[in-house]
Amino acid sequence: MNEIDIEKAAALMRSASNMAVLTGAGVSKESGIPTFRDAQTGLWAKYDPQQLASPEGFKNNPELVWQWYDMRRQNLANVQPNAAHIAISALESEFSEFAVLTQNVDGLHQRAGSKHVVELHGNITTFYCFDRLHPASEIPTGLKQPPVCHCGSLIRPAVVWFGEALDRSVWRSASQTAIGCEVMLVVGTSALVQPAASLPFDAKQKGAKIIEINPEQTPLTRRADLFIQAPAAIAFPLLMQYFRQS
Ligand code: NAD
Repeated sequence: MNEIDIEKAAALMRSASNMAVLTGAGVSKESGIPTFRDAQTGLWAKYDPQQLASPEGFKNNPELVWQWYDMRRQNLANVQPNAAHIAISALESEFSEFAVLTQNVDGLHQRAGSKHVVELHGNITTFYCFDRLHPASEIPTGLKQPPVCHCGSLIRPAVVWFGEALDRSVWRSASQTAIGCEVMLVVGTSALVQPAASLPFDAKQKGAKIIEINPEQTPLTRRADLFIQAPAAIAFPLLMQYFRQS
């Protein structure tokens, strides 16, 4: 991690009044939630994420998909927001406009105190059937198969699966945030899953400065104004220190 880049990132952020943060699975890794790539171990190693997170996968094997999401939902009870989620939440009050656009479905930004969060891919603690939303309070954990709603359809997690479109109003809000921000922090995303991956490019095209935080390079890295090569929970405390000094 290059400290000079962190200092430059803090100065860029200080110069802005409208800031957006785009996050992916990597921001939750230090909370103990594996990214999809890391999740390919243990019991689930033999399954392709496409089998577990697609409408076809649910149609072919609803029990398997249900149990995978149920396991992830139950795991949420044992994890906490990490230093990166907490820093992102602390930044919110420092800007006149601020939004978190997240691809994560774990709700950790909200648990860290972030108020303006756009969940691009939904949330695993909400469910829907053919015709309505079902809150977590209606769906107990530990079920071995998806419950059937009174309407006759299977209940499924309210997340966006591979091959599915994002909710229109959610996407509109994310797009407007991206094209209106002056600085976008892009944290812990492989920048591969579309359409979310297009948001930093759209922001850049409209003149925003892009700061990427990731231990690995991504397709975005070459276009980013600053690349902080580090795990998010390591980079953020230092970034906040410089931000508060600048
Ligand atoms: P991804 O798995 O494709 O990529 C994760 C990225 O995080 C990689 O670029 C990796 O280098 C980086 N990373 C790993 N450790 C990190 C750390 N400590 N700090 C910062 N970055 C780190 O994830 P994605 O880009 O979010 O896209 C995959 C899809 O997976 C998304 O649709 C998302 O909904 C879903 N997903 C969500 C969760 C979650 O909610 N926590 C977990 C797994 C997958």
